[in-house]
Amino acid sequence: MISQPEDGEYYRLLDKLYKEIPQTGATGEWFSIPKPALRYEGDKSIYTNYRETCELFRRDPNHVMKFIVRHLATAGYVDKDGRLNLQGHFSDTQIEPLLERYVAFYVKCPTCGRPDTKLVKKARVVYMVCEACGAESPVRTAQ
Ligand SMILES: [Zn+2]
Repeated sequence: MISQPEDGEYYRLLDKLYKEIPQTGATGEWFSIPKPALRYEGDKSIYTNYRETCELFRRDPNHVMKFIVRHLATAGYVDKDGRLNLQGHFSDTQIEPLLERYVAFYVKCPTCGRPDTKLVKKARVVYMVCEACGAESPVRTAQ
């Protein structure tokens, strides 16, 4: 049971925190990651809503694919319909955490936490440039 004075202190701190968060003119909303829709053909898994997911992330499907296949320790390719074909059978519960990691690593701005970012390569370093707060953060390549 939280006593009243502590409660008051908590809200005062919360209020202070909110005031310290820089207000930006961001238009983009944070998104929820669509659940991977998978189909199985022979020994392949076909991720059918892959293109839509990459469009939402605003990332190159090949970049997302490299991350997924490396973590699943398999091979894959993006077919002409933009579906991701994976060698072997994988479930959405195996792929979903990888998408979350990808977003945390390559999409979400580490400064403001918004997804309105793009990857820009300068010299040999890849930066995540945030359109919401303007932060430029070097991306550690997980390759
Ligand atoms: Zn930001």
